[in-house]
Amino acid sequence: MSTTDFASLRLKPELFSNLESLGYERMTPIQTLSLPPVLAGQDVIGQGKTGSGKTAAFGLGLLQKLDVKRFRIQTLVLCPTRELADQVAVEIRKLGRAMHNVKVLTLCGGAAIGPQIGSLEHGAHIIVGTPGRIEDHLRKGTLKLDDVDTLILDEADRMLEMGFQDSLEAIVAHIPASRQTLLFSATFAEDMQRIARRMMRDPVMVEVEASEEVSSIDQRFYKVGADVDRLTALKLLLQEIRPESALVFCTTKRDVDDVCQQLQRSNFSAMALHGDMEQRDRDRTLILFSNNSISVLVATDVAARGLDIDALDLVVNYHPARDTDTHIHRIGRTGRAGSQGLACTLFDESDAHKIARLALPGDPVKHPRPLPKLTLLDQKTPYPAMQTLQIDGGKKQKLRPGDIVGALTNGGEVSFEQIGKINVTDNSAYVAVHQNIAKVAQHKLSEGKLKGRSFRVRKL
Ligand code: AMP
Repeated sequence: MSTTDFASLRLKPELFSNLESLGYERMTPIQTLSLPPVLAGQDVIGQGKTGSGKTAAFGLGLLQKLDVKRFRIQTLVLCPTRELADQVAVEIRKLGRAMHNVKVLTLCGGAAIGPQIGSLEHGAHIIVGTPGRIEDHLRKGTLKLDDVDTLILDEADRMLEMGFQDSLEAIVAHIPASRQTLLFSATFAEDMQRIARRMMRDPVMVEVEASEEVSSIDQRFYKVGADVDRLTALKLLLQEIRPESALVFCTTKRDVDDVCQQLQRSNFSAMALHGDMEQRDRDRTLILFSNNSISVLVATDVAARGLDIDALDLVVNYHPARDTDTHIHRIGRTGRAGSQGLACTLFDESDAHKIARLALPGDPVKHPRPLPKLTLLDQKTPYPAMQTLQIDGGKKQKLRPGDIVGALTNGGEVSFEQIGKINVTDNSAYVAVHQNIAKVAQHKLSEGKLKGRSFRVRKL
């Protein structure tokens, strides 16, 4: 038996057999290194990013320890963003699905607090949440952490960057000191070490080589300036590469808005994502981007944190990242799950030192790649593969994805393959369909009966 076999760990049989059904054949590097100390009850610091399998590393640890019969909150997982918290909760439920009655509850900002209080009254074993909201509940007395024996800080560096330090301290003060603490972070700078010293006991450090994960990404550097400005360079790259999904990083919110507007003016399918947006608009933008109805998402680093969007064809650094960690975090979003990714970075004379700091082979500052020919701009802009239809009915109206697929495919004009992602929220449902059948699909959904009712359906 190799040390990367899950069988080398003494997991509960129901956890172990479920891994097989999930298709997890062997441990990822971070799991191989961290699971033994995690299962032995030690505090562990794991340096690994999204995509490394870190969620299962702590998820298996907390589930192994969980006493389901004791209906108390035994684990608290803190995440920087709601998206990450949702993702973590999904993974924990998946890992624990063969254990009976494991109750995982997410508590995040941006959602109404009332229903959360109701859910807390019903009890839970595991809480996954964002620091601000957890602190709110502690203040109101609606959440008690006296029985917590495992605390997990996920993407701890991001939480600190987002200013959650005081919240973290306040929350930790409510958790018994005898707990096990697991901290995951892509970086381990001075402020993180301080947190670790204060909140952890003799932590074991586990580091996974980041360069290995990044090696499947084709990195290209383009110099902009007098001949071709940044925006033109971006348009040229989008015309040349014609990505289905591209994420473009800018430094400030203003740049995000400017770049997005300019792209839209030139007929590119683009939307902006930044911290000033209402949660509802943000959710909608993410739905449109992740179901391929929008090709280009322009975002700040903060806004893009914790986004669960795989398989991006392209990441563009419209401005270079301010440090190596941010750069790696950005480009790590392309080329996940073994596929080759592409990351293009634009820089001008004044940015050259930032590129030099990345210590890349081939000296891209001296030898940037030539930009595509300007004549490419005369081509028709690519348009997205899918179009989203919004149905004015959701979970509250008991609408389920199956009802929508049924209504669309009934009659045979729309095939199953022409339907993309379906997202059902409380009061709306979003269904992505191929552009060329969007009209037919809209007609079928609005004229046909869904759940015996007519709903308003519009193209977004
Ligand atoms: P994470 O880094 O936690 O976001 O995990 C990245 C993805 O890898 C998730 O979709 C997991 O379901 C998947 N995953 C985690 N561990 C394994 C494993 N040992 N084998 C295969 N897939 C895994």
